[in-house]
Amino acid sequence: MRNKKQAAKSFRGAALVLTLGAAALMVSAQQGPAGGAGGRAPQPLMVHQLKPNVYWVEGAGGNSAVIVGNNGVIVVDTKTTAPAGAELVADVAKITPKPITTVILTHSDGDHVNGLASFPAGIAIIAQENCKTEMQAAGNTPAGAAIADHMPTRTVTKNMEDATIEGVHLRLLHFAPAHTSGDLMVYLPDDKIMFTGDIVAAQSPYPLIHTEKNGTSDGWITTMNGILATDAVTFVPGHGDVQMKADLQKRLADTAARRDQIKALAAQGKSLDDVRQGLNEPPPAARPGGGGGPGGPGAGPGGGPGAPAGAAGAARPNMADFTAIVYGEVKK
Ligand SMILES: [Zn+2]
Repeated sequence: MRNKKQAAKSFRGAALVLTLGAAALMVSAQQGPAGGAGGRAPQPLMVHQLKPNVYWVEGAGGNSAVIVGNNGVIVVDTKTTAPAGAELVADVAKITPKPITTVILTHSDGDHVNGLASFPAGIAIIAQENCKTEMQAAGNTPAGAAIADHMPTRTVTKNMEDATIEGVHLRLLHFAPAHTSGDLMVYLPDDKIMFTGDIVAAQSPYPLIHTEKNGTSDGWITTMNGILATDAVTFVPGHGDVQMKADLQKRLADTAARRDQIKALAAQGKSLDDVRQGLNEPPPAARPGGGGGPGGPGAGPGGGPGAPAGAAGAARPNMADFTAIVYGEVKK
């Protein structure tokens, strides 16, 4: 498979040795790009090495990144639960004795931020400003309260900010509200590796949009165009396996075409049900797991911090119901 070279350097979180080999390789090889992160029982995290000092960590929520700098470690996204966050912290300690000094959050969903509860106190936490707002709004949920003392200490307000942290050159990107209003892509220009967060969730053909966090499909297309305008070569998605530029180009083209189809049918005055019929798409009730697909990203308690509880949330389309989301946007 495409990432065999990279998969060969993977190891289970419990293992210490990078050259571990067959067992880890087999587990990784079974997880094609469509496999995604959902639907499996909890298992040890899988650590994949991309560069001498750059890793991505699969399992127990969204993908995380571990970037080892001169004197400390930068972690991108922190898993779904406090125990999973603790496991990630333990895995970092197996990679390097350097302390975790910085966490960067790609967005506010629980499967990316709730593991913060197990991270050291007093570290720098960087997020897009809207992500911080969404995290603060989740403070009255149990998961939100558990990370109340791990709110972002620094917010990104521009579309592009360069930073050097622990000697590592980072570029933080935000183009438009897309998956959520506070998406942040973490780019390593020197390595041409980008961590996209849930802008890309490899198991889902179309983007996941949290309308309750003011995400939009239009903003998603803007974001993908922005991502593809960089010179990034390797993309670690929020869920699923490493992607190459051609994968993202296809994802964008397929999504834009689908969006245009939905728009055209809506412009003809068709109802949402008729649009679905026109696309040969089964109604949502006929699809498995009405709650975002089986174990889909963000399928944490309450859909993650910031998701309004109760009826207000229920009235909105599920984040995986791309047709309903686009229909809602164009009918506004
Ligand atoms: Zn998400």
